[in-house]
Amino acid sequence: MRILIQLWMLLTLASCAGSITNITNSTFLQDIGDGVYVHHGKHLDIDTGYQGDICNISVIVGSKGVAVIDTGGSLKVGIALRSAIAQITRLPILYVINTHVHPDHIFGNAAFIADRPQFVGHAKLATAMKLRQEAYDKLNVKYLGADAKGSEMVLPTLEVKDTLVLDLGDRTLKLTAYPPAHTNTDITVIDSKTSTLFTGDLLFTERTPVLEGDIKGLITVLDVLKTYDVKQVVPGHGAQTKDWQGAISNEQRYLNILLADIRANIKKGISMSDTMNTAAAGERDKWVLFDVANRRNVNTLYPQLEWE
Ligand SMILES: [Zn+2]
Repeated sequence: MRILIQLWMLLTLASCAGSITNITNSTFLQDIGDGVYVHHGKHLDIDTGYQGDICNISVIVGSKGVAVIDTGGSLKVGIALRSAIAQITRLPILYVINTHVHPDHIFGNAAFIADRPQFVGHAKLATAMKLRQEAYDKLNVKYLGADAKGSEMVLPTLEVKDTLVLDLGDRTLKLTAYPPAHTNTDITVIDSKTSTLFTGDLLFTERTPVLEGDIKGLITVLDVLKTYDVKQVVPGHGAQTKDWQGAISNEQRYLNILLADIRANIKKGISMSDTMNTAAAGERDKWVLFDVANRRNVNTLYPQLEWE
């Protein structure tokens, strides 16, 4: 029995050590295998405790060079990311991809200007960035304080209109642009070597999904993602998963309940502020940051759905 216990302890220790070696030198990036690395931002709300580091950032290393998917919300996060990549490879940064316009995903771009990559985004990203520049600059000063300095907006140099394939040498990345869903600037990335789908904020795991684009559009796009031939998914926020069909279904369940509850309340003449307290209430225990995110969703969607 004692031998069994010792064996079990040894195995447990070995598996812990295994997971530690999976974290690269910097601990900023988690090695998820075959040249794919992910940084997981913290689940903090943008209004309370936001420090610029809340979203997922991914790095894909090919034989010719590197692609970065999202860069975090400040120059500081971008610099940490750039130095973590330097510990993995000296290959050039060929592409910096932004999955959409939201500030927590784009302001680390500035740390990559010296690398002269192609900055890649949805065909509508440049316009969306320019329209929001003033508001986002103010938001950064308010929430990031000193870290706002140098967190400048870097516009895309390469547009994704429909689909676009990027060549990293021994692997390709297929980028796809979507109609309005989470935002009007959403793209996804599929890595050919690992069959990994990077969804940006079309998919959240753990954290309550939010949207500002089009809830019906998002539900439809999630149906499209379900048809993809991939093995794992890295969401915009939350842990990567091999049960990605389940993760997409979870988000669709929340969105469908939210949509149905808001529609029903509009029909009954129940106000938006009352709806904020009750819509999708059964989902509360299933998601992180539910109250703040769900209220924000009702605030976005109620006025849209009133005019259906
Ligand atoms: Zn977003």
